[in-house]
Amino acid sequence: MSKWICVTCGTQYPERDTPPEHCSICEDERQYIGLGGQRWTTLEEMKATGYRNAFYEHEPHLWGLETVSEFAIGQHAKLIRTPHGNILWDCISYIDDVTVDLIRGIGGIQAIAISHPHFYSSMVEWAERFDARIYLHARDRRWVMYPSDRIEFWDGTQVELNPEVTLVHVGGHFAGSTVLLWKSGANGKGVLLTGDTVSVSADRRWVSFMYSFPNRIPLSAVIMKGVRSRLEPLSFDRLYGTQADSVVEYDAKGVVIRSVERYLDALRRTEER
Ligand SMILES: [Zn+2]
Ligand SMILES: [Zn+2]
Repeated sequence: MSKWICVTCGTQYPERDTPPEHCSICEDERQYIGLGGQRWTTLEEMKATGYRNAFYEHEPHLWGLETVSEFAIGQHAKLIRTPHGNILWDCISYIDDVTVDLIRGIGGIQAIAISHPHFYSSMVEWAERFDARIYLHARDRRWVMYPSDRIEFWDGTQVELNPEVTLVHVGGHFAGSTVLLWKSGANGKGVLLTGDTVSVSADRRWVSFMYSFPNRIPLSAVIMKGVRSRLEPLSFDRLYGTQADSVVEYDAKGVVIRSVERYLDALRRTEER
């Protein structure tokens, strides 16, 4: 019996003798099936192949976490250290004893919150190792491939995980796409962690939004106006996307609002052509 992990998207499936026939996450038009066809691995095989996790510091009390060499779609996770407990934002497929010991050494994980299904990865494995709850938006319930009673589906626009950390439903990339607002980040000016919900552009002075990143399918004006209305009330100065270097250091709120306007302008011009 093995818990099979999809090599292309990194999603872990519940224990069974043989790998699943399909990966529903990859078959969705927001992802893709790898050129070599559907392939599977396991945590044991990844460990034997030499995968490991690396940690780095984004800013005080905010760690980044990634697997090397790069696995699946190169997911990164973030660990926010608060006086009320540590929050894991987004998740990665690989986990080993060293990772668990290191994180336990700084107080373990109080809760796991995930922006959208492309980062569900091995969330149940992580939750079991740290005895943590997982917070997912109810509108993405159908994309959970590994059901568990550790998963808490929340609905509505916001949920407070602790006095410093609030999850905000934004939509867009996925119907349940979520961001995390960390009030005391950026020296108290506020930090937004966005996953793929808001993606940081190459110059880090713009951000963008997509229905599918790998297949380059944009979002509609109606959806983008909904995204804007959810982001507009939030107070933050710095924004972290998915990768180690995807950060808007300051004036991130202004960057987000200008970027939404630029996106809507581009959609209008497309319609005029
Ligand atoms: Zn997959
Ligand atoms: Zn995604």
